Amino acid sequence: MRFLVRLASLGLWCVAFSFVLYAQTAAQLRTSDTELALETGPASPRLVSLTVPGQPKWENRSSEVLIEFAEVSGKPIPLHWNFNRDASEISEERIRFVYDSPSPHLRLTWEWRTRQGYGPIEHQIRIENLNADEIWIPLQDTLAFDWRVDAQSTLEHFYVEKGADTPSPIGTHHVALANDYRWTGTSSTYGDLRSDQPREIIPGSLVQREPAQSGWYVGIEFSGRTRISLTRKQDSLQGAVGLDPDPGPFRTRLTPGETFETPVVFLGGFRGGPDGAGNILRRWVRTVLGNPETWKNPNYPLVVNNSWGGGMGINEDIALNMIRDAASLGVDMFHVDAGWFRGVGDWRPDPQKFPHGLDFIADQAHKAGLKFGLWVDWTQAGLSTKPGALNARDPKVHDWMVTDLPADWKPESFKGQTIDIGVPEAKQWAQHEVERIVDDYHLDMLEHDGYLVAHGCDRTDHPHASPDPLNKCIYPSWGSYWVDSSNSTDVSYHAVRAYYEIYSYLRQHHPGLLFEICADGGRMVDFGTAAHGDYFSITDTYDPLSNRRAFYDTSHVLPAAMLESYVEKWPTPRIENFRYMLRSGMMGWLTLMINTNDWSPQQHAEARQEIDLYKKELRPLIRDADLYHISPRPDGVHWDGLEYWDPERRRGVVYAFRGSIQDEGMHSFILKGLEPSAHYSLRFYDHSAHDRTFTGRELMARGFRVTLPFPNSSELIFLDAEAH
Ligand SMILES: [Zn+2]
Repeated sequence: MRFLVRLASLGLWCVAFSFVLYAQTAAQLRTSDTELALETGPASPRLVSLTVPGQPKWENRSSEVLIEFAEVSGKPIPLHWNFNRDASEISEERIRFVYDSPSPHLRLTWEWRTRQGYGPIEHQIRIENLNADEIWIPLQDTLAFDWRVDAQSTLEHFYVEKGADTPSPIGTHHVALANDYRWTGTSSTYGDLRSDQPREIIPGSLVQREPAQSGWYVGIEFSGRTRISLTRKQDSLQGAVGLDPDPGPFRTRLTPGETFETPVVFLGGFRGGPDGAGNILRRWVRTVLGNPETWKNPNYPLVVNNSWGGGMGINEDIALNMIRDAASLGVDMFHVDAGWFRGVGDWRPDPQKFPHGLDFIADQAHKAGLKFGLWVDWTQAGLSTKPGALNARDPKVHDWMVTDLPADWKPESFKGQTIDIGVPEAKQWAQHEVERIVDDYHLDMLEHDGYLVAHGCDRTDHPHASPDPLNKCIYPSWGSYWVDSSNSTDVSYHAVRAYYEIYSYLRQHHPGLLFEICADGGRMVDFGTAAHGDYFSITDTYDPLSNRRAFYDTSHVLPAAMLESYVEKWPTPRIENFRYMLRSGMMGWLTLMINTNDWSPQQHAEARQEIDLYKKELRPLIRDADLYHISPRPDGVHWDGLEYWDPERRRGVVYAFRGSIQDEGMHSFILKGLEPSAHYSLRFYDHSAHDRTFTGRELMARGFRVTLPFPNSSELIFLDAEAH
């Protein structure tokens, strides 16, 4: 259809002529798991196929869909893309096909690159404005495809939700991808929780052929408003991956010389179902997106105590007591949560609560051998008129607010008005302020919370597109509201890039500084923040079941070490329940959110032992081992469990959790990823059973039993492969 339109506009003779002159270029990129064939067409490039070695090809029928017009002085001008062979580049790691539009003069670069010898291959499209004037362009997707599939074939679609607020009852989705399947998954920085909409996904998707359990996955390395769509019609599986076009029409400005960059996406092949894909992807995310400085520290992921167990009531006495107790428990870092500051936007310690300042607390933590972390919601403005505060009424910064505030507006105790950091002056202020906080308060870790990126923006003088007053949706939310308009995606595009620039700057100037991505508890869990932060708060609900659910979902696609569970106070009449509470947060990054001074001597002793176990035996596996989801998703009623297996160390562990039901004292876990003929000795850490030896074949076919006498209890079973 598009081709016919172009044919009509250019004239048949012209098209025929260009075909005669045009010689196609083909190229390939490969990793051990993924092979991509790519080729040029006269007017657009094409991903030809994806192959998982030893499996049938995925053949793509469509060429990349390139934008068809640009707006110059308010008028849409059709674009005619021509392949530019001289500007293109083919190497073993990178393929760049360049297309030029003569008038208006634009250059489009269609790039694919491998980052490692294994794992997925990255893709991005960039459009550069080579005119002397400003132009506007519509939405360019990063990737659109139309796989030819056997009309009779059975396909499965797999994706996971963000644990934002509270993990939903489903979280991990295995869906039959049958004829007429239509699906769109979205992600943003604010974890949209409208009741009439599906929950936000961690922006990725996996499709596999059944029963082969082999296929491909795609993910988006960007935190702004993005979407992935999939539609199946008989033998066609169409999809699109990139910025979210709704609500449209999207448009973005390109000043002379400026380049629009689509979100980077990665596309990879796999075998062995979602866990097979996850074991490649988690390692790839760590190596390619992760911060090498962070992973170099053998104590990553850290054990933390956070002050939010006492809410906003934190003060110097409480902090010093918590530090003393944290050190005696073997905790690695003390983390001051909200409640320490003078006011929202006024990020200086409250002198009533901290008479000796916050640097004093940091120094006390350091003296006790702990690192020091701090909560800040640094894009929020309030009403403080003290020097250095971001005051929403200050005429100098008034325009950074995304909207005019009503005369009676007041910030909440730790939430104010988000500024648009896509505005260069606002970004500059924020970067300076965040760096001041890091320096003045001697931080080892900075947690960002709240809404870093505006939901939308009413301003017409910001770098993003102006909102369309006729196309605006207002959603009630937690007593206030947010607005999505035709410019929401463009607002997020600019603000997220500013946020990444601030964090890249901080990383460069403060190596070793850790960043926690909190964003109201699990709303910014995506592959863009994975590339700019060090760990995620994965949910805002902290009971054992919610922690295990959020971990179960998120750990399919992100390294376990990056996934933080906050363990809050929970009823623990028996010490077995106490251990269950702790261990429900000990599968990834462990943060206690309890004033541990309230614990009994028995609980103290138990926690000290569990933290020691975590640091010595569990942490190395959480960092390096393969991960298998060996039970259905936790429901709190029945048993659930996870298996770590490290093929290098030939060592692993099974986390076994017994749910609340009374008459289910025994469960069999069937393991994965072992060698059938090898022998494995199993050590039951709490001595719920005698240590035993099994073959890999037995463990992967019939499994092994765990028996626990009490509901809401747990066991850790360590596995060691015996020498051949
Ligand atoms: Zn704005």
